[in-house]
Amino acid sequence: MGKFDVDENGFYGDFGGAYIPEILYDNVENLKNNYLKILEEPSFQQEYRDLLRDYAGRPSPLYLAKRLSERYGCKIYLKREDLNHTGSHKINNALGQILVARRMGKTRIIAETGAGQHGVATATVCALMNMECIVYMGKTDVERQALNVQKMEMLGAKVVPVTSGNMTLKDATNEAIRDWCCNPADTFYIIGSTIGPHPYPDMVARLQSVISEEIRHQLKEKEGRETPDYLVACVGGGSNAAGTIYHFVDEPQVKIILAEAGGKGVDTGESAATIHLGRLGIIHGCKTLIMQSEDGQIEEPYSISAGLDYPGIGPVHAYHASIGRTDVVAVNDDEAMEAAFELTRLEGIIPAIESAHALGALNHKQFKPDDVVVLCLSGRGDKDMETFIQYKAISC
Ligand SMILES: *Cc1c(COP(=O)(O)O)cnc(C)c1O
Repeated sequence: MGKFDVDENGFYGDFGGAYIPEILYDNVENLKNNYLKILEEPSFQQEYRDLLRDYAGRPSPLYLAKRLSERYGCKIYLKREDLNHTGSHKINNALGQILVARRMGKTRIIAETGAGQHGVATATVCALMNMECIVYMGKTDVERQALNVQKMEMLGAKVVPVTSGNMTLKDATNEAIRDWCCNPADTFYIIGSTIGPHPYPDMVARLQSVISEEIRHQLKEKEGRETPDYLVACVGGGSNAAGTIYHFVDEPQVKIILAEAGGKGVDTGESAATIHLGRLGIIHGCKTLIMQSEDGQIEEPYSISAGLDYPGIGPVHAYHASIGRTDVVAVNDDEAMEAAFELTRLEGIIPAIESAHALGALNHKQFKPDDVVVLCLSGRGDKDMETFIQYKAISC
């Protein structure tokens, strides 16, 4: 089974690495020297696998969506990450990282969050492990994702609203890094996606790779073969996509379609389509594609989905796109919203707006009747109900 092609310094081709302030050097170096050892320890694997099964509810089902399949003229399986505890794939990573944090003797956990899904997952595992939890969240997101803020607080986390910049994910991440710099000795930063300095992108991809590991087994059972013709996933920072493709990247017959957030349209100036619009730069410790102006100012991304509006992209996805391994499509707000309503009416499943971008990508391709398509349904739509209701009110 394949894995990602990352070198010991965390580079995927030109992308990745660890560009960090001096004060964090020992910390990141220590994590870099230990994460693989820890992830591979039998005691870690035992504890992690037990929690994935009994706490998070894995394996998540691989569901043959018959009516959706009919609609697109192929065979579509949904990988149901929406059924995980806390409602998305984020719990896979949060559980893994908190076990790493404990093994490194850390006592205080910090995290950044956009839509709040990673914040909720982190607050959840901190409650479980009785650890202090501080979540940085842009003030704009605090307001538009109130339910998740209330969940984090009920779980015992301290949510810190961030008022710099656009007051969204990028700004929350800046603030989390600032905290980390002030408290390098006792604090572990649980990053929520395949972003940040090496070894985070690789560690997060490995922790999410359980998704593709399960897909292989489940497809073998259902289709008699381990590989699909297509994999489809949405990309914000890239963690659910990384988990979905991890064990398939070496097999060129498996075509990979990734959906980034087009916002109001790639050329409208209101978009979060980083792979389409980005240029090489450094953000949050990592060299990758970034939405930036001519003189290198980071441009504020826009998407209807709070979980996708990040101006950077996981380095592994920048790399795969650059070598043509993945086909990245920009799916606009309207396409994603229509796809969300369509899935709801065809299958009785309300998806997260992030996941709806993956569904919206189905319209961008022509499938053959016997094509087997596996789409990662990264999360459920409970948190997005207000946005759905508003959207329907405006478009009716
Ligand atoms: C956070 C989130 C995403 C985007 O993050 P990735 O790291 O790109 O996966 C997508 N879907 C859901 C449901 C999320 O909560």
